[in-house]
Amino acid sequence: MIRFSSHGAAKQVTGSCHRVETQRARVLVDCGLFQGGREIEEENTADFGFDATTVDVLLLTHAHLDHCGRLPLLHKRGFRGRIVATAATRELARLVLLDAAGLQEEDARRAERRTHRSGEPAPAPLYGITDALRVMDLFDAPVAYGERREVAPGCHATFVNAGHILGSASVFVEIEDAAERVSVLFSGDLGHPGRPLLDDPAPPPRAPDYVVMETTYGDRDHRPWDASVIELVEAVAATHRRGGNVVIPTFALERAQEILYALHRGIARGALPAHLPVFLDSPMAISATGIFRDHPEALRAAVVAEFNRDHPLDLPGLRFTRETAESMAINAIRGGAVILAGSGMCTGGRIRHHLRHNLWNPASSVIFVGYAAAGTLARRIIDGATRVRLFNEEVQVQAAIHTINGFSAHAGQSQLRAWLARCGQPHRVFLVHGDYDRGMQAFAALLDRDGIAWQMPGAGEPILLGGQRRD
Ligand SMILES: [Zn+2]
Repeated sequence: MIRFSSHGAAKQVTGSCHRVETQRARVLVDCGLFQGGREIEEENTADFGFDATTVDVLLLTHAHLDHCGRLPLLHKRGFRGRIVATAATRELARLVLLDAAGLQEEDARRAERRTHRSGEPAPAPLYGITDALRVMDLFDAPVAYGERREVAPGCHATFVNAGHILGSASVFVEIEDAAERVSVLFSGDLGHPGRPLLDDPAPPPRAPDYVVMETTYGDRDHRPWDASVIELVEAVAATHRRGGNVVIPTFALERAQEILYALHRGIARGALPAHLPVFLDSPMAISATGIFRDHPEALRAAVVAEFNRDHPLDLPGLRFTRETAESMAINAIRGGAVILAGSGMCTGGRIRHHLRHNLWNPASSVIFVGYAAAGTLARRIIDGATRVRLFNEEVQVQAAIHTINGFSAHAGQSQLRAWLARCGQPHRVFLVHGDYDRGMQAFAALLDRDGIAWQMPGAGEPILLGGQRRD
């Protein structure tokens, strides 16, 4: 018997974790963190719904926190199997997990000070830096795109490019027990085709029996990349002419590098000054940019040729500000600079200092290039707040506010549908990783129209996979 179950991203977006089991092998695909508000994040402390000590192998699709963020916890609860991922995913996962572990420890220290005053017992961190370092030791030799590797008894995995972030993959799993064999394609997160740095999502090596598919944007399409670059460059040029600063809240992986590349395009076209001062004010984004340079195998061939001539992530006026003092020095710049900093949703990090120094200034602008969840500072500004609180201070919003949505790293609805059409006629598609009421339902309605059988697995719900009989 071959069984499938979802232990995260089941009828929700975050916490991706899926499991396939036979008598001989127990395979996990991803083990991500639940994110977004206290209620959802409490799920991180819950039982996985399986015994971590029995997992043979974990196949990691990519390094976003909602796909790898519970790995140190998996180790803490006894997982000692192997982790298989591409080289770039391994490098980025190290960066992301050490950062997450540092934040977990910091949160726990803060809670400890609070409970110390109130006399309650102190909560332990979900995991610490030691757990993150230990889980990094479980990574196997990196897997290349297209390589078919035996990852557990009777189980082979082939990673194909998902075009979502550097190193990201869809994973084609072939698994057999005594009587049957089944193939399952895990989409991972699928990229938005037509972006400049990464290849478009690749088709699976063969038509799979089952597909486990993300539905983040199952209900809508994005604007094309090129139109978004023009919008960005125009907003930066207009701010520059007015003498203000441009503040771009940005995510450290992929988005920051794509914005640098878009600015490079603007400079090459003569639409922006050649020596435009650009500050990448995020230690994590700076490290991620280094990983981009080290992994040309994960980039589009055309862009690699361009990198060899004139590295588009080396803008003439680009400065990396890793140290806090360097970051603070940016506050003295009254105009003419472009500042990229995190966090993308402005919930913390250095971006809040830059907003404090620029939001009140009508000559400056703030450009949002990513997803902003309800309740975050980014969402409030996008929705037209006229005043916001920053560091216990009221700040007026007088800067120009732009929202550009074409930089999404995710496939839109039509692109998800086109990708699935390349998978032949699977027995069933399991819809995961989406807003239950929006992306998932809308995409399910499309599949009904296309005559494709689908199911939305509940958390932990065991599902039998019927395959072909072995000869
Ligand atoms: Zn992702």
